[in-house]
Amino acid sequence: MTAQPRLRAACLIGWPAAHSRSPLIHHHWLRTLGIEGGYVIEAVPPDDLRDFVLRLSLRGFVGANVTLPHKENVLALSTPDERARAIGAANTLWFADGELRSTNTDVEGFLNNLDASAPGWDRADEALVLGAGGAAHAVVFGLIERGIKRVHLVNRTLSRTQALAEKYGAAVQAVEWSRVAELLPRAALLVNTTSLGMHGQSALDVDVGRLPRNAVVADLVYVPLETELLKVAKARGLRTADGLGMLLHQAVRGFELWFGRRPQVTPELRIIVEADLTGA
Ligand code: NAP
Repeated sequence: MTAQPRLRAACLIGWPAAHSRSPLIHHHWLRTLGIEGGYVIEAVPPDDLRDFVLRLSLRGFVGANVTLPHKENVLALSTPDERARAIGAANTLWFADGELRSTNTDVEGFLNNLDASAPGWDRADEALVLGAGGAAHAVVFGLIERGIKRVHLVNRTLSRTQALAEKYGAAVQAVEWSRVAELLPRAALLVNTTSLGMHGQSALDVDVGRLPRNAVVADLVYVPLETELLKVAKARGLRTADGLGMLLHQAVRGFELWFGRRPQVTPELRIIVEADLTGA
């Protein structure tokens, strides 16, 4: 009898069961690249995380995405790369040389989306980043990695920006929210990493009209697809990068690590995920 090859499959580990667009994205790539594989959601309570991750391969998985509340705890169960270590959280697990590795793909999701949406954005000397939560860590790390000379960081809770500034050194400055208006005319890149502007949240009150004419505006929020911030920026003729683009670009690396082919973020994929987000 010939042994049946096992289907290569990855999963998303979260708790409670995450509602996620990742299966839609990875199934699209598996289908269009003609790869026999799978991607499923696994609801794993915190007490079971260790056992689940240590037996990932025995459970038949070639790797995983990791979401709330496990992104930090998974570091101790794997070998994190420099990005995951610096950010203090990982969202992707894979096996290499018999070892379980972890990384944080939000960094390249953010950078690659900007590269695709606003080429040359990284000629910016100064960036203004709103927010200091988990997503802001990845954004600030990415900006420093790309050589942005000065990152001003503002957040409702100042102590969180100070912690980030201390971590990343002199290029990152924690600034009080009241100074945003004064910093906007110098910001060649404005990034919203707060949840403000998201459906059901308060509006983000930033006067885009004060930005330089060649500024780029990025918003990590993707519900709605076009936030008020991006709408106003576009109306002013500024280049923009949206949250959905980042979500799609951050999924590329995991797929490549698990299934061995680098997928593309195409207009067709965008349309599929947009339809799911808007219920069309
Ligand atoms: P988080 O760790 O909970 O951080 C939330 C951030 O929003 C904090 O800076 C918080 O400020 C700020 N905030 C929340 N409510 C606020 C309010 N009413 N007024 C002022 N500031 C407020 O969340 P996260 O993981 O960083 O995610 C942040 C956003 O990015 C979410 O909308 C998420 O969906 C989005 N995101 C998108 C992607 C993507 O691929 N597009 C990836 C990751 C995250 P305090 O520190 O003062 O609480």
